[in-house]
Amino acid sequence: MSIQSISDKTTLNNGVQMPWLGLGVFESREGGEIENAIHTAFEQGYRSIDTASFYYNERGVGKAIQESNVPRKEIFVTTKIWNDDVRAGRTKQAFEISLEKLGLDYIDLYLIHWPVGGHFVQAWKDLEEIYQSGLVKAIGVSNFMVHHLQELMDSSEIIPTVNQVEFHPRLVQPKLRQFCKENKIQFEAWSPLMRGEIFSIPQINDLAKKYNKTEAQIVLRWDLQHEVVTIPKSAKPERIIANAQIFDFELKPEEMDLLDGLDNATRTGPDPNNFNF
Ligand code: NDP
Repeated sequence: MSIQSISDKTTLNNGVQMPWLGLGVFESREGGEIENAIHTAFEQGYRSIDTASFYYNERGVGKAIQESNVPRKEIFVTTKIWNDDVRAGRTKQAFEISLEKLGLDYIDLYLIHWPVGGHFVQAWKDLEEIYQSGLVKAIGVSNFMVHHLQELMDSSEIIPTVNQVEFHPRLVQPKLRQFCKENKIQFEAWSPLMRGEIFSIPQINDLAKKYNKTEAQIVLRWDLQHEVVTIPKSAKPERIIANAQIFDFELKPEEMDLLDGLDNATRTGPDPNNFNF
């Protein structure tokens, strides 16, 4: 097992390094809540923050970063372009607004948030230009299925560095993961804790007891052993701290299989083939 500490990183297909563990901030409110969450995370050694223009908290993320003592070059910031901007062809403007709200002079990873049919290929071409300008270190996608990735790769120059999708023991997505692996696209899990639903799965309860860990720690460890980047969200300091304590134990191969076997294709979020926003 190669991932041994919170400072370990995956190397993306363009050579940029991205931490395996990050802090998700969807629904973390701007102001004290998000600033405290990020300060706690930095104290624990987290260096990656996952936001989006749609979360309406990029200013809060930027403020927390500016107030911290952590050097900018150690921090990895992901943000995303929202669907309305993709549809309207406002990629570059949307990027500039995110950059300004974050108060940064570059972004580490910029993602197309959803595969908006008929528009994502053009948005990707715009992202390629932003990437060439140096204002973003890596570009990628989110919620792309295999056919979306194929369509994108058939008509563009740069292969996405990352595909961030819903992933947890009830939605294991083996084919999509395999496709990403073959094409050197780093797979990244959103809603790794199934927004809390993993806590009532008996097999996960049993593993938590066995290892004297929480259900969240078991599932986040499973992500790492699958070499999946993971970004659990919490606004509670004690949970942010606990969610990072996943580097001192290892699940056995049969336990990995057991968790994989819980897959029943359940989504907590929208289906990327059928969303209406
Ligand atoms: P998660 O699976 O990370 O679950 C978050 C929920 O679990 C929150 O309600 C949190 O509550 C709770 N929680 C966190 N840690 C623990 C713990 N140790 N014990 C008990 N409860 C806990 O869901 P998210 O949907 O937030 O996904 C994570 C991140 O992924 C997002 O924040 C966002 O950055 C990204 N994302 C991306 C999407 C995309 O389309 N690209 C879609 C959705 C999410 P509390 O805060 O009160 O601790």
